[in-house]
Amino acid sequence: MINLKTQHELDIMRRAGLALSKVTAELIDACRVGVKTAEIDRLADRRIREAGGRPGFLGYNGFPKSICISVNDEAVHGIPGPRRIQDGDLVSLDLGLVIDGFWADMGVTVPVGNVSAENMRLVKVTEEAFWKAVEQCVPGNRLGDVSSAVQRHVEAAGFSVIRQFVGHGIGRNMHEDPQVPNFGRPGTGPELKPGMTLAIEPMVNLGSPDVYIKPDGWTVCTVDGLPSSYYEHTVAITKEGALILTAAEAGLPADRALAG
Ligand code: MG
Repeated sequence: MINLKTQHELDIMRRAGLALSKVTAELIDACRVGVKTAEIDRLADRRIREAGGRPGFLGYNGFPKSICISVNDEAVHGIPGPRRIQDGDLVSLDLGLVIDGFWADMGVTVPVGNVSAENMRLVKVTEEAFWKAVEQCVPGNRLGDVSSAVQRHVEAAGFSVIRQFVGHGIGRNMHEDPQVPNFGRPGTGPELKPGMTLAIEPMVNLGSPDVYIKPDGWTVCTVDGLPSSYYEHTVAITKEGALILTAAEAGLPADRALAG
């Protein structure tokens, strides 16, 4: 069942999303050569709590840390630890924050130092694919329009989308209906309606789409060892179109919509 949110609930989710976007901005800056991923995790935990939130991933199905950090061939769900960031790494951050019972979820891949042109293109295409999806987030469209927009953009660039893991509805729970795959057919799936809130998260591999889970039970890696990239925001469908709940303060049309 898809939970449609009230304006009041969307306001809470926007508060959570704005807080999370500020934390993310600081974490992006903290991703530097020589820094341990566990240090990024500790910073995230501190900042999320200072913002009045709870780090939602901590303890979620037993996840041991406050955020996910996945490096290079690690696609998603990496566990922060003693690994030090190296020059040329692609560092994917994925964070969830809960305020007043509502979730915000976002993620980004940070290129650190001298990243190869091909890997930079991977990161760029992943982010572009997200915005292609957002263009489809208007009432009356179908979820398949969103999914296929991601897939088309990624595959046209010569990359592939992961199929075993997908985006999701979000609200009082991190994972709500519907699932939001990064592949699909236009015109299929549930109709988008105002009040729907979706975590849209292209997961894009440079090579094959195949992934496996490491023995730690969490970390999702590419089978071919090539890098993966990630980009996620929590998005609300409104009468006026998409509202990026986890966007930074400046330049968000959604802010005007919420204020009005
Ligand atoms: Mg998510």
